[in-house]
Order: sequence, then C-alpha cells, then structure tokens
Amino acid sequence: MHSFKTESKKLLDLMINSVYTNKEIFLRELISNASDAEDKLYLRSLTDPDVDLGSEELTIRITPDAQARTLTISDNGSGMTAEDLERNLGTIAHSDSEEFKTANSDAQNSAIDIIGQFGVGFYSAFMVAKHVRVVSKAYGDTQAHAWTSDGLEGYEIEDAEREGHGTDVILTLKDDEEPGANGEGGERYSQYLEEWTLRELVRRHSNYVHHPIQMMVTKSRQKPKPEDAGDDYKPEYESYQELETINSMTPIWKKRSSEIEQKDYDEFYKSTFHDFEDPARTISFHAEGALEYDALVFIPSRAPFDLYSRDYEKGLALYSSNVLIQEKCADLVPDYYNFVRGVVASPDVTLNISRETLQQNRQLHAIANRVEKKITAELEDMRDNDREAFEKFFENFGRGLKYGIYASYGMKKDELADLLLFWSAREQKLLTLREYVAAMPADQHAIYYAAGDDRDRLAKMPVVESVLAKGYDVLLCTQDVDEFCFQAMRDYTAKDLPKVYEDEAAREAAQKAQADGAEPEREDRTVELHNVTSGDLDLATDEEKKAAEETAKANDDLLSALKEALGDKVEKVAISTRLAADGAPAVITSEGPLSLEMEQVLSAGPESGDVPRAQRVLEINAQHPVFEKLRAAKDADDSDKINLYAALLYDQALLVEGMMPEDPVAFASKVCELM
Ligand code: ADP
Ligand code: MG
Repeated sequence: MHSFKTESKKLLDLMINSVYTNKEIFLRELISNASDAEDKLYLRSLTDPDVDLGSEELTIRITPDAQARTLTISDNGSGMTAEDLERNLGTIAHSDSEEFKTANSDAQNSAIDIIGQFGVGFYSAFMVAKHVRVVSKAYGDTQAHAWTSDGLEGYEIEDAEREGHGTDVILTLKDDEEPGANGEGGERYSQYLEEWTLRELVRRHSNYVHHPIQMMVTKSRQKPKPEDAGDDYKPEYESYQELETINSMTPIWKKRSSEIEQKDYDEFYKSTFHDFEDPARTISFHAEGALEYDALVFIPSRAPFDLYSRDYEKGLALYSSNVLIQEKCADLVPDYYNFVRGVVASPDVTLNISRETLQQNRQLHAIANRVEKKITAELEDMRDNDREAFEKFFENFGRGLKYGIYASYGMKKDELADLLLFWSAREQKLLTLREYVAAMPADQHAIYYAAGDDRDRLAKMPVVESVLAKGYDVLLCTQDVDEFCFQAMRDYTAKDLPKVYEDEAAREAAQKAQADGAEPEREDRTVELHNVTSGDLDLATDEEKKAAEETAKANDDLLSALKEALGDKVEKVAISTRLAADGAPAVITSEGPLSLEMEQVLSAGPESGDVPRAQRVLEINAQHPVFEKLRAAKDADDSDKINLYAALLYDQALLVEGMMPEDPVAFASKVCELM
C-alpha cells in the first residue's frame, strides 16, 4: 500500500471536510475530469498522427447500481497509465490538467475547455464514497490499471481489465445516516443512485459541459394494441430502458446573436428561470480584453411572485468553462436591478479552490459595472421606443428603482432618475421627470408633487388645485417610497433641453440668431422637487406675498389665539399664499424635512413607536368667508368659539389631506355643536 504524498492526510482531511459547502458537487468534479480527459485526447488527435479517433464519439456515462450501491462515472478520454495514476491521484494538489492547459495555451481551439486547475477536485469523491476504485486504460496502451482507496490511509495500484481507452471512477457510497434527534444531519447518500437526483445534479452543475453525458433511464410506453382487442380495450403500458443524453451541452450565451433567434432565448429563459411568460427584453453581449466573458441577461415581463419577500435572492448565474460556479451571484447586479435573470460565463475568472466563488472581487466589479450599464441602456431604449412595454415594466419594478435612489442617499440619481415615471395631474398620464421639466412654463422653477395613497384624492386637494390653476403641473405620487426618493434626490437635472429664455430681450435675440441660421441653444436645467404641502412653495407673486404679510400683521391677535387654541398640535398658524381665493378655508402644511405623508408612511412601518412628528402649520385662507367669522369671533372676544373653530378647521384640513382627525369622536361632536 502506498501512502499519499505531501502532508497528504491532513490535506485530504481538509479537502473532504472543509473545502466544499456542498457534498453534491462531487459529481460536477468527476464529470469535469472526464470532460477534461476527452478534451485532452481530442486535442492530441488533431496534432498526433498516432491518435486516430475515427468516428468514435467522446461521451461521458453515469451508471448507478442500487444493488451494489455504486455510482460509476466513465469516459472514453485519454485514460491514465499506472504512472499517471500514481502521479495524478496519489498527489493531492497536483493538477495535470492545469499543466496541460498551460502547455497548450496557444492551441486556439474552441472545442477545448479544460476545467481542472487545482488538483483537488477528484478527492471530493470521498465526501460521499467510502471506497473509490478508478479503472483506467491510457490511449494506445494494452494494459489497464486500477487505483483503489478507502480515503485517508492511502491507495493501491494494480493491474486490471478494461475494454477500450478511458476511465471508470467507481464510487461505493457511504452508508445512509440516521437523522439526529432534531431531524437534521442525516445524509442520505443513496439519493446519488436515484435517476431523478442525478439528472437534476447534471442539469444544475454540468448542463453545458460540451460532451454528451449519458445515463440509462427508465421510460414508459404504450404497448401496441393487440389485433383482437375489443371495444373495451384499455391501453397497457410497459417500462423500458433507454440511453439518454441528460445535458444540453451548447451554452446559448456562446452563440452570437446572428446564429440565434429570439424564440431560442425565450425558451432558454422560461425553462431555466421557471417563468411562463417570455422575457420583456434580452440583452446578450460578449466582452473581450483583460477579462473575457459572455453575458446573457433577461428583463422579465412580470415580477416573480417572491420579488418583495425576504427570501428573494438576486443575482446572475456564474459559469466558468461551462461549469456552474454560483447559481445566484449577487455581486453581479445592483439591488435596484434585482429582478433581472441571466448568466455570466467567463473562462478567465480566477476561482477559489472549491470553485464555488471567485477569488478576485475586482473581476466581479468590472463585470457588474458593465452589466449594469447594459441594463440601464436597455431600459432607456424601452422607455424611448416602446413606451407601453416600459410602463408595464415600471409598474412591476419601478418601486425598486425609486428605492435604489433612496437607499443610495441620492448617489444613484444620475443613473436612475430618468427611468422613473410619475402620474401627471395635468396630463392625466405617466411622465418622466424630464418630460415634466420640458413642459414647464418659463416662470416655473420647481417640480411640484403631492404625496398620498390615492390619486383621485390627491387631485382634489386644494393646494394641488391652486398649483394647477397657476399653470404648473403636479405629480401625484402614490407609492410610499416616492417622497423618500425625492428627498434623497433633492433636485433633478434635465439634460439637454431647448434653452428657456425668461427675459424677453434674450428670447428675441436668440430667435433672431436662429433665423440667421444658428443652432437652437440647449441647456441642462436643474430644478428642486417640492411637495405642495410643505415649506415655502414660492408660488405667490410679490404683491400676493405683500398682501398676505399685511393681513398677517393686522390679524396677529387672531393668529396667536388660534395657535393657543391648538396648542402643540401645530408649530404655527399663518396666512396662506398657496390657496386660491375661492379654494379651501384652511390647509395643513409642514415645515422642515419631514412631510405629513412621510410621517404617515413611517408610522405605518415597523418602528412606528419612535417616528418624529412633522412640524405642522395651519394655513388660513384670508379670502375665504370663514376668515370673516374667525375675525368676528376674535373681535367679540368669544374664546369658546375661537377654540371650536380652530379645532374644526384643523380636523377638516386633516380629513381633506386623507388623514384621520386625531380624535374623531370629538370632531363629530364639535360638528353637531355647530349645527
Ligand atoms: P484537476 O482536475 O483540478 O486537475 P483533480 O483532483 O480533479 O484535479 O484531478 C487530478 C488529475 O487527475 C487531473 O489533472 C487529471 O490529470 C487526472 N484525472 C482525474 N480524472 C481523470 C479522468 N477521468 N481521466 C484522465 N485523467 C484524470
Ligand atoms: Mg478536476
């Protein structure tokens, strides 16, 4: 008996127990070795006249034997001599395949895709097998040899029988374990003898290995109908065995778009990502240079049912040399594009030893950046050229884009703001922010929006009506994230719009210049985003402002009395400049960063206990008949009436904004009192 070379026992123990997170990858490793052996032989046949494969097909065969409790992985590749067995399987961390790849690196042959590189994959077999026997015959040799081992102690090599060239790796599976008391831990090794499991593992990890992986599978067919069958004949079935290729081999992402039709992509998308609708968009590209890779990315037509659940995992599948490395590599897509599905495949990425993750995040970053840009460009194209599809997309995934701006504290606004859509109160349709800004009159300097949960109610809000009456559009925002997104953005820059001339002389000069053949001037316009119910809207003309100031001064006693009546409920009571003369009698607005709507959203959330209160301002419409009543009550020094009116005005303004009066019962009884 030979003992393993190097500090092998320790290393082997480490291999078997620590390198892999997942026992099932042993199959991927053994299939990869078989594929490498076939590639090596094929490459030799191209250059060495002594190697003639004739019409022989290079295939990999998986054979489970439930009786013997063995699983055999066979190939008809290069095979190994006794010395090869000694060198390759007796030395841990020696990779012949890596050496072969380096030696043949100039062989620009796309049929070759050597997978091995660390010289450890083979030993993953011991995660599931108590005994491993490798029977191999090198191409051109007459004698076959067998390498056998029970794991840690060492291995033996002896003469053996094998018909043709190639290798059989025969695993005797470990005994099934009883589950622990908590029902966990019981490894059922016999699952690796089941057709369904093997099929599934091949599909998951080795689907695109470019040699056929074949397995005898049990099928069922209808027996032929007997000649003398009567009318009541029931069809009979029989099962039979058939050799089936269980991997699909050709990676669709390697095909150039000229060789492939959209319906092939659609099929691949639906079967791989378990969707029943075609993708809305397919992005495929090939990158060359320091890092070569193919990417195939899909924008789904509808949100997967679990998109907004905690368990949803974003990410693209990552392949190296046609072998799956990670099913959902999260680093390849930003959170706000978490809905995309797809594949990135690269022969160049440096893998860690378990081949389950990448060694260098730098490489992932480079790929992720490029992928993100491609997705953004695709969405922009959809927005500009297929608005209907884009609106559908936005309905499904828009919330995530807005959340992306908020979660990045606005840093992602350049990337994402132009992909957002909002409902326009004036146009009665969805607009981009750029479209909103482009339609602004010359004297408008901000984007106005109202936030709340119901579009119809927002449209009827007195402040919205008065902003619309000024000729300014208002965006009606009904998603909880909207205002947080806007606050994170602070302002928005609409790029490359026709220049707006506020000043008459400048406009005329520009018109004249254009008449003389000058190009129309363009500009980027940056505007703030303004909630119609918070802060100073700056909508009033100077005269209106002055009038309001004077009214406020003349009614200082009344405003103080109202403030006193409302106590802590409001920060202050003021004369409004945002309400139309024939509009509502009063409105509640807010000062400071927190709006009433944000307060509402936050207090509906999980940390509702410590939500700060928006600083409320009760604004009174001095042109409304109610104002005269208030004035009269104050002049009569009727403080009961002042208290009643103040409370009613406050509560009804809350109602108009879609909020509950703080004490609905008190509100109701006050209304009755008034009647
Ligand atoms: P790696 O594949 O990373 O080189 P492994 O531990 O998986 O490392 O395999 C070690 C070496 O054993 C391979 O480099 C290869 O030379 C040899 N080998 C393993 N399996 C086979 C096989 N089925 N046919 C021929 N050679 C094999
Ligand atoms: Mg290997």
